Amino acid sequence: MPKLVCPCGYVHDLSPIPDDGWVLVRDRDYEALLAWEARREALGKALPGSADFDSLVEADAAVNELTERQYECPGCGRLARGNGAAFRCFRAES
Ligand SMILES: [Zn+2]
Repeated sequence: MPKLVCPCGYVHDLSPIPDDGWVLVRDRDYEALLAWEARREALGKALPGSADFDSLVEADAAVNELTERQYECPGCGRLARGNGAAFRCFRAES
């Protein structure tokens, strides 16, 4: 079960799809994201070993490169933001 641990000790459960986080995309990349998402949707559930599966993997990778995830800790309010295994934490100054 993938988890993200906040510095305060709270554990975000990243297992549910969708989960409680946000998906972030730069405004300038939004149109490209929509195009890759449409391509991914059109490929549906391609079977491993097929040419469509390779295209689906490419589309998945492109979507992952264009997006980051963000989670707000319900315990301390910190924001954890990242893409994949590495997350950075941010806390409000006041
Ligand atoms: Zn926290």
